[in-house]
Amino acid sequence: LFGQQRKNSQGLNLNDLAMLEKLQQDLDQMAERTWQAYPLVAGQTNTGESRPLFSPYDRDCLVGHLTISNSETIERALQQASAAFANWRLCPVETRAAYCCNAADLLEQHRSELLSLIVREGGRTVSDALAEIREAVDLCRYYAASALELCGQPQLLPGPTGENNQLLHYGRGVFVCISPWNFPVAIYLGQIIAALVTGNTVIAKPALQTSLTAMLCMQLLHQAGIPHEVLHFLPGEGVDIGRQLLGDTRVAGVAFTGSSTTAQLINRQLANRSGAIAALIAETGGQNVMIADSSAHEEQLVSDALHSAFNSAGQRCSALRVLFLPEEIADKIIARIIGAMQLLRVGSPANISNDIGPVIDQHAVAALSAHIEKLQPYAKLIYQLPLAAELNKGHFFPPTLLEIPNLSLLEQEIFGPILHVVRYASNDLANVVTAVNATGYGLTLGVHSRIKATMQYVQQHAQVGNIYINRNMIGAVVGVQPFGGMKLSGTGPKAGGPNYLHRFVTEQTVTNNI
Ligand code: GLU
Repeated sequence: LFGQQRKNSQGLNLNDLAMLEKLQQDLDQMAERTWQAYPLVAGQTNTGESRPLFSPYDRDCLVGHLTISNSETIERALQQASAAFANWRLCPVETRAAYCCNAADLLEQHRSELLSLIVREGGRTVSDALAEIREAVDLCRYYAASALELCGQPQLLPGPTGENNQLLHYGRGVFVCISPWNFPVAIYLGQIIAALVTGNTVIAKPALQTSLTAMLCMQLLHQAGIPHEVLHFLPGEGVDIGRQLLGDTRVAGVAFTGSSTTAQLINRQLANRSGAIAALIAETGGQNVMIADSSAHEEQLVSDALHSAFNSAGQRCSALRVLFLPEEIADKIIARIIGAMQLLRVGSPANISNDIGPVIDQHAVAALSAHIEKLQPYAKLIYQLPLAAELNKGHFFPPTLLEIPNLSLLEQEIFGPILHVVRYASNDLANVVTAVNATGYGLTLGVHSRIKATMQYVQQHAQVGNIYINRNMIGAVVGVQPFGGMKLSGTGPKAGGPNYLHRFVTEQTVTNNI
């Protein structure tokens, strides 16, 4: 890191069969292990309510137990995090960055345990889990390097009247990091590392469903050198913990990834309290479309649409929800998509050869079923992949293809393996883009075309954060595709990008008339 050009990590070669076998062995060996999660607040023992956590692919598979944070523990975390800020703010950024790089090394060393937890607790496939661990490693190193640049040296400014002018960057104070279950390591750690490395103390509130994975990450951060009084862990119900933390004037900022509705709620809670105006960094949902024109390369279009819509069981905020096809190729492409869907292997992610795992819980299954039910009068169910009867023991949802007459039927984000198709007249591209902007969301968008004018028109007019042309639209890479949306999809700045850390710091100008 120091003085060298930073590179993303190598990851594992998934074509290496011997390595895959070893991974499968590791997974099998840890299949019975049970884990514990509980609040980690220095000097505080929390004896709250305990809950079992089961795997989303098998309701009988116990992954571990979670102790819910009680309000006394939350208060203690606030006290400690705010008391520790004065020192942590002045801790040299080189030290903070070194802790983050240690954390990256530890994540790599503990890859097997993390993999087992992400698969068993989060229901993610092995390839998703490995990619996520790798992303987390890259985020640790990337933000460490960015922080050295941002906070390492005061920025010297012109001194036209002979004064010395400098711009310095410091942490804001106590940051609350609230993270989702769909990336229980990468998004969770990305937010925390960004806040810590810039000199904020942190209270982490992980998604309830993936508390055990979050706990292991937290232990690794402490092991990496982050002092206990600087970093606190409060697992439990979002509503209760959120209410107590967000109403408190000791909180200087919030980094949140989750639904747009929850982000708006957090925004209101922060606005309603007295005291300093808190910073909010929110990365939220999308109503992501892919627009093909008739010049699209058909095989590539089908494979990219399928991957973008169904990978991770559609549980990515970047995932494709609506595919726009011009009339003249629509039937052909739909037939090919059905063919490709029939080859998808849905099943337990603990089996390395399955492509698609479960959705997170029974609420997700119910919401997806309700969505299809609600659309029934307007939509045509084109195809739904039959699922094996044994999958009843988990929260599986069949990959589904629906045709709908227009985008405005979809009011909210649909978080799961449902792909909608809309046909359009090929001279109507402008209206398609207008409809996309009218959703209010602005996260990812795909274009499949070999015509420069189409690419350019969409890129210039679509108000979205990440545009992918002639490829799939998920899996943004750290430092390569800074990720995040606009409007209902988030506040920015983009995660894994050069400006992300700016919102975590305050600026101080020092003018010295020497
Ligand atoms: N960054 C992820 C991607 O590019 C999505 C993150 C999310 O789902 O919140 O696929």
